[in-house]
Amino acid sequence: MRFCLSIPLLVWLAGLGLSLDVWAGSANLFSRRDPLIEKFVADISAERMQETVETLVGFNSRNSASAMDHPTQGVGAAARWIRAQFEEYSRAGGGRLKVDFDEFDQAVTRLKNQKLHFINVVATLPGRHPDRRIVVGGHYDSLVLARAPARPPSDAPPTRVDPNSFQPGANDDASGTAAVLELARVMSAYEFEATIIFIAFAGEELGLIGSRHWAKQAKQKGWIIEAMIANDIIGNIEGGNGLIDNGSMRVFSEGVPTAETAKEKEVRQAVGGEVDSPSRQWARYVKEKAEAYVPTMHIRLIFRRDRYRRGGDHIPFNEEGYAAVRFTEANENYTRQHERVREENGVRYGDVPEKVSFPYAAQVTRVNAAALASLALAPAPPADVAIWGAGQYDTTLRWTASSDDRIAGYNILLRDTEAPLWQRKIFLPKAALSVENGTITHRLKNITIDNYFFAVQAVDGKGNESLPIFPSPGDLRLLAPPSE
Ligand SMILES: [Zn+2]
Repeated sequence: MRFCLSIPLLVWLAGLGLSLDVWAGSANLFSRRDPLIEKFVADISAERMQETVETLVGFNSRNSASAMDHPTQGVGAAARWIRAQFEEYSRAGGGRLKVDFDEFDQAVTRLKNQKLHFINVVATLPGRHPDRRIVVGGHYDSLVLARAPARPPSDAPPTRVDPNSFQPGANDDASGTAAVLELARVMSAYEFEATIIFIAFAGEELGLIGSRHWAKQAKQKGWIIEAMIANDIIGNIEGGNGLIDNGSMRVFSEGVPTAETAKEKEVRQAVGGEVDSPSRQWARYVKEKAEAYVPTMHIRLIFRRDRYRRGGDHIPFNEEGYAAVRFTEANENYTRQHERVREENGVRYGDVPEKVSFPYAAQVTRVNAAALASLALAPAPPADVAIWGAGQYDTTLRWTASSDDRIAGYNILLRDTEAPLWQRKIFLPKAALSVENGTITHRLKNITIDNYFFAVQAVDGKGNESLPIFPSPGDLRLLAPPSE
């Protein structure tokens, strides 16, 4: 088994009066590798992604204001082509993938309220528990500006060019769209526990328009979205500053939730949790799972919602209270973002396929596959996770016992308060837990609540692990304290 510390050992340590400090520190968390997930990872093809990016660039422009009805040019043709790809993968996978357009008209503030038509291309792979959803997206619209904003981005409105001029957007973000299509291709023949929704978003460059439209609808429908990934700019390995890196990538996640309410803020100030948003738990999960399956890729967690003063399609999901992160390359190259394709003073500008590393984009896509499949195969996270321990020497966790009979037990995760990643997993086998009134209570002897952060995750018989849930304070929720 893969857990780090057995319960008898923990009890023994507690009996000796030893604190966690004797064993907190260097041990690595590790997970077993599932052959099915290894297969998804292996099936991701750099060549297929290159074909996708080149085809998308071949529509000449995918600017949201470009041609909608032209058969081979413009954003409309691109949307129809993406839809056809999803439909092809659906047929190849036995028709389980359901493909749809999410279409709407919207006046665009950044274009003096010009009304445009937007099409999110959405492919849904229903899981055995269809109400559990995981979203993976990339935006297929492109944007070239006559004068790209100064770096760092200036507040001056950028000057627009003819939307039907050549706007290749190979890296930003045909690369992310290619990742989404490739994931749908390799995963859509399988039935997972959770539903996976693959989305090519529209209108990102005009203010996250497609993703916001979709995320708002999801929230209005009361949908549970356990996690979301926005793949945006995932294929460049040559930083404009000369740094070259094809072995790491960045995962951005918010700390304090964007959607935090005043009440939640009050609770957070009383108990901590600035670095434990659901998005941050998802980022940690991505790193742990992806580095197990793609050990040649270093996942660099950036503890920020997005790059400095910049944004992406995960943010509308954060705004609606969902766990959502951004995947992007290690070093950016601004001569290749939103620039007209040209040569000037010996510098080649433009976001063209020749500057995309497809082997690298495929690696980022493998990271997606490992994280998405790990979560989609896992049981639902534990519900109603609460914690007590103020003014006590022990810490007590309580959560609702899952009715899912595949559950083999639960992990309690711990880390020092200054540690960025979980340091310990304590596996509690179901057989050893007593369920009272539908809840499970577990006391960590001599572990003071003040000095650690905690989370609980559900584990099935194969070792699939749910997202970790950061507990809320039981006493502040006015829950009756657990009895002795
Ligand atoms: Zn982008």
